[in-house]
Amino acid sequence: MTFDVRGGTDALPDDRERFPLGGGRERSSRRGEARDGEARDGEARDGGACDGGACDTVSQAPYVELHAHSSYSFLDGASLPEELAVRAAELGYDALALTDHDGVYGSLEFAYAAHAVGVRPITGAEVTLAGGAHLSLLCETHAGYANLCRILTDAHAGTRLAGREAREPLPPETTVDFVAAHAGGLVCLSGCARNGLAVVDPDAAVRLAHAFEGAFYVELQRPYERGDARRNAMLEELARTLGVPTVATGNVHAHHPRRVRLQDTLVAARRSS
Ligand SMILES: [Zn+2]
Repeated sequence: MTFDVRGGTDALPDDRERFPLGGGRERSSRRGEARDGEARDGEARDGGACDGGACDTVSQAPYVELHAHSSYSFLDGASLPEELAVRAAELGYDALALTDHDGVYGSLEFAYAAHAVGVRPITGAEVTLAGGAHLSLLCETHAGYANLCRILTDAHAGTRLAGREAREPLPPETTVDFVAAHAGGLVCLSGCARNGLAVVDPDAAVRLAHAFEGAFYVELQRPYERGDARRNAMLEELARTLGVPTVATGNVHAHHPRRVRLQDTLVAARRSS
């Protein structure tokens, strides 16, 4: 593989831009930012709401999306990384995290596109744990990126077993212990509404909160489904018990409402296969 079209890897955005959370472990200020972001989330969403064709309004949104899927979340994302980056710029986002399922396949495309439109790219992934629970991991430093790659390698290591080469690969999965052993340089969000570790297995989330000391956030989402209020109340209680901040994320799967029908179609195809 070459990167000639883009000028080679020398032209990569520097570490500050690819890992904008980076720069040491001064967590207190980061925690403050997360709390601020959460507190203003409703305001941000109101400001960035899409009503019919009114989505092209450019606004300075005091919100940064930390959970977004591109089409590299195969059959679970309807927009290209470039489209997400451009949309983030249109909405006035300062940064955007790409968290595709069990991979960083789109991160280079995303970094270039985000760099071009003045949005700081945050490299990340939503990793699947044994049993099916999800975690959102974000790279804070270069070492964190290396650890994320180790975690993803572990997740995929058991997908193509000897003797099963001709069959569909098994779903990727890693373990809480492996993630805990590779926490350095990563920020951990406790996972999505439906399959998040804090929802599925709060005790395991507590273990990770200790492993990611100062870099663990309880993730709150509102997919407008039955049980949203009860689940988020439980998660807030968990965060209080652990003494960690909460952070609101949107679990984005499309850059624009008109792309949601494609996302629905992809999900239908995935579930019927
Ligand atoms: Zn998920």
